[in-house]
Amino acid sequence: MSRIILKSAAAAFASVAVSLLLTLIVVPAMGFPFSRSVWLTSTVCPLILAWIASAGTFWQSDRLKSAHRELARAHAQLTAAHRRLSEKASRDEMTGMLNREAFFATLDRSQRKADRGSLLIIDADHFKTINDNYGHPAGDDALLLITAAIERGVRSGDVLGRIGGEEFAAFLVGAAELEAKCVAERIRREVELIRFHPVEDRTVPLTVSIGGITCGESATVSELMRAADRRLYEAKHRGRNLSILDRDNPEAA
Ligand code: GH3
Ligand code: MG
Ligand code: MG
Repeated sequence: MSRIILKSAAAAFASVAVSLLLTLIVVPAMGFPFSRSVWLTSTVCPLILAWIASAGTFWQSDRLKSAHRELARAHAQLTAAHRRLSEKASRDEMTGMLNREAFFATLDRSQRKADRGSLLIIDADHFKTINDNYGHPAGDDALLLITAAIERGVRSGDVLGRIGGEEFAAFLVGAAELEAKCVAERIRREVELIRFHPVEDRTVPLTVSIGGITCGESATVSELMRAADRRLYEAKHRGRNLSILDRDNPEAA
């Protein structure tokens, strides 16, 4: 407030100075005498009017500036909330991996950019039996153990998604077939090594089957999914706990 009074006082005195200067030029030029009322009019009027007008203007401008600051703060908060929400909406709540839609959107983007890489589909074996035998909460624990094993198996920068209940996908960025086979095998082994104890004194084996494909430049996401799915189906058919990335050479336990 005191800043506004000081600034408007400075503006009022500046307008008095300008008014006096004009009076000194205009009054003699028009042939009028310098009377008391001329001096009073040329000082008091600008002093009062300019003080009030500039105080009002400075006050308004201060209010506008603080409203602008508030708006900028609210905008930053909204942007951050929007980022958090869209991040949350793209994640699977249980595992923290990308959900199905977000994973396929990522895969689609990488295909459009013709990025090299390989796609793995990882499906837990006989998972229904775990739920049936030990209950759904125990099944959830097993899923989290499998999630952690998959995360240990991939390389940093690879993209992971939970694309179904007990079905996961990994996009191995830049991986050609040989490297993708190594990663798939590492995942399969990591899952196999899990010590899952749904009840005391009992260790239940957990395994996954994996189908994979190296992404060709022209293939669409659904073509890649179909090809990886066919190999996953083949791995299941050949007895599970298996990864297949090309039709003829399955990597077996
Ligand atoms: P396969 O080796 O052929 O894949 O056999 P499977 O039993 O794993 O496959 P199936 O499709 O018959 O059953 C999948 C099971 O996974 C059934 C479903 O209840 C369970 N499941 C899916 N999502 C979840 C989940 O979030 N939590 C738990 N606990 N179970 C889940
Ligand atoms: Mg399964
Ligand atoms: Mg399945």
